[in-house]
Amino acid sequence: MTTLPRTASAVIVGGGVVGCSIAYHLARRGLSDVVVLEREAVGAGTTSKAAGGIRAQFPTETEVRFSLESMRVFERFREEFGVDPGYTKIGYLFLVVDEEDLRGFETRIALQRRLGADVRVITPADAQKLVPALRVDDLVAAVWGPQDGMAGPAEVTNGFARRARELGTRILEGVEATALDMPDGRVRGVRTREGAIATPLAINAAGPAAARVGKLAGVEVPVYPRRRHIFFTEPFPEIPGPVPLTTDRASGFYFRKEMEQVLLSPGDVEDIGEDTNVPMDWGKVHDAVEKAVHRVPVLERARIAGGWAGLRPLTLDDHAIIGWAPSVEGFFLAVGFGGHGFQHAPATGRYVAEWLLDGTSSLDLSLFDPARFARGGAAARDRGPDAE
Ligand SMILES: Cc1cc2nc3c(=O)[nH]c(=O)nc-3n(C[C@H](O)[C@H](O)[C@H](O)COP(=O)(O)OP(=O)(O)OC[C@H]3O[C@@H](n4cnc5c(N)ncnc54)[C@H](O)[C@@H]3O)c2cc1C
Repeated sequence: MTTLPRTASAVIVGGGVVGCSIAYHLARRGLSDVVVLEREAVGAGTTSKAAGGIRAQFPTETEVRFSLESMRVFERFREEFGVDPGYTKIGYLFLVVDEEDLRGFETRIALQRRLGADVRVITPADAQKLVPALRVDDLVAAVWGPQDGMAGPAEVTNGFARRARELGTRILEGVEATALDMPDGRVRGVRTREGAIATPLAINAAGPAAARVGKLAGVEVPVYPRRRHIFFTEPFPEIPGPVPLTTDRASGFYFRKEMEQVLLSPGDVEDIGEDTNVPMDWGKVHDAVEKAVHRVPVLERARIAGGWAGLRPLTLDDHAIIGWAPSVEGFFLAVGFGGHGFQHAPATGRYVAEWLLDGTSSLDLSLFDPARFARGGAAARDRGPDAE
């Protein structure tokens, strides 16, 4: 049985990429007696389902800055963590079929370029030069981000976890947070079946289980887990790699090469509740194949070899929720990362550690304000591409 420490300066609930990044950054800043509670194993949650995509193409300044900060970390990951994260700049390519959609891209691209991201509108013919297998006759344009790319979610999560442990963090696997002690309305401890840990600070980094963990503190956390599938083909040399992560804006379908295989997703969004063992719906293969063959006709000859499904922890406006939970002292939220939690985890760790240790973060995080939903300020604005 796991022996729990009696006290901790902070308890992080959730050992996914977000929780491990926060733990590492807190430890690096000198907070060594932090505990991470992970009910399964490090990285076994929705982090293990991610496609590994990393892009600078986001609709808001804060998120673009998050991406650029994360890219800097991926760039030097090997030196800092002693692990090769498999970071490759394969690029992101969005295929655009209507003018109005293109106008939205142009507005966002102006912002992204101002902040230093390399993103450009290219012609359908140029898109086909990048990926010769594409059908482009119905496109009005494509949007190309050559500095975007991918890395391995497991490698990155384990890199954060290992360094955090070396710096003194206790990461306890197979231990579930079951209650929060809040005798006077503020966090005093976290309870588990194995015992309790006294702490003034609990951090909800529970991914798709964020709402459930929020309830432990009586806080409504508006994170909605939605299922998405990814399938992979048998080795398919007809499309030589590397291939940019290519998204068809008309259908939501995306694909890229993974070694010799093609990874493809129908871009589905489905409410199946918050089940830890996300069941697959093999019926979704037809949807994926239909969309794939429309955009990449040669895929008709590919054979699907397998697939998986995972939960994306969505919010109403597609922005994460980062900050103090309204109404409960000592309860911090770092949740709701949707389809981009892997790529934003390095930046999240850094800015959350600054906030908690310095009282403020060097980047304005008001976009992620947990209170925005109650204020009615979280309408679905220009959300940009739902890419992963
Ligand atoms: C199909 C798919 C493709 C994706 N592709 C990409 C991509 O290309 N790029 C990208 O950036 N993102 C992608 N994502 C999104 C990304 O996977 C998530 O945003 C990210 O992994 C969230 O990390 P997390 O640490 O918040 O959640 P998780 O990895 O789920 O970690 C939370 C952890 O909390 C634990 N937990 C929950 N409740 C408790 C409790 N009470 N006590 C203890 N532990 C608890 C869980 O076991 C879990 O391990 C994709 C997601 C899916 C489903």
